[in-house]
Amino acid sequence: MTHSGGFNRHCGKTVSAIVFLCMNQQYSSTLLEKAVDEFAKLPGVGRKSAMRLVLHLLRLDVPAVDSFASAITTLRHDVKYCRVCHNISDTDVCQICASPSRDASVICVVENIRDVMAIESTTQFHGLYHVLGGVISPMDGIGPSQLEIESLVERVEQGGVDEVILALSSTMEGDTTNFYIYRKLSKFSDLIVTTLARGMSINDELQYTDEITLGRSIVNRVPFTGKN
Ligand SMILES: [Zn+2]
Repeated sequence: MTHSGGFNRHCGKTVSAIVFLCMNQQYSSTLLEKAVDEFAKLPGVGRKSAMRLVLHLLRLDVPAVDSFASAITTLRHDVKYCRVCHNISDTDVCQICASPSRDASVICVVENIRDVMAIESTTQFHGLYHVLGGVISPMDGIGPSQLEIESLVERVEQGGVDEVILALSSTMEGDTTNFYIYRKLSKFSDLIVTTLARGMSINDELQYTDEITLGRSIVNRVPFTGKN
């Protein structure tokens, strides 16, 4: 008899038995334990939450779980990143970079894809993006060469860019990265380098700032001086 068959037939009874066993750090099934282990690897998910999610999946019918698993696998296998801005995309060049209605003379530099989504949701920015893929963090072993900084310099070198907005989070790592990029771009004498007006408190990460404040800080951006 498989364990999954057991869950389907005696769901209520089995679930309470699992919860009891879990509290005692034991699992009645290695399949269950493995699934909980995998969910518990996700950020912000402890073993208790992992167990709750796994039990939820067990209550779903098989096609629903297949669809869930397939979405994750397909995402990981087929995901593409825009070759221009490194935003997530289904195509070689993302919709934002390909859009004729966007202002290609302004590039907003962000840490990750969530920041692009946060800024897009403000509807206040009509330029293009450049996704670095992180920030310089010696503690985590992340140096400039692991980020998309050189490709940003190349984009500016190609011409047609009047302004680069540094929109990284106001953490120490964000500030270090801003300054590094600012130095790299200083050779372009006609280029304006700006940063977000700080309507948010220090250490707020960009994606957690509310839309109105973020939108306002983009519209009211200020020249980057290295001391912002
Ligand atoms: Zn793009």
